Amino acid sequence: MKKMTCRQLGGACDHVFEAKTFEEMTALSKNHGMEMVQKGDAAHLKAMNEMQRLMKSPADMQHWMENKKREFDAL
Ligand SMILES: [Zn+2]
Repeated sequence: MKKMTCRQLGGACDHVFEAKTFEEMTALSKNHGMEMVQKGDAAHLKAMNEMQRLMKSPADMQHWMENKKREFDAL
């Protein structure tokens, strides 16, 4: 199992996710982020807005995913 934190994945806290694959990791991070935003957590809301700003185009999103996958693979 590999570990990454919420913050490493564009989030706002040090919550640790454990996953075998990068896809699993991003899904965990996404679920956690949405849960925190639903709870009205301002820090995660800000982080999510920032992510949306970074991912204006599919190419930007692709680029972000590739970078994060590299980080994940290097763990
Ligand atoms: Zn978090």
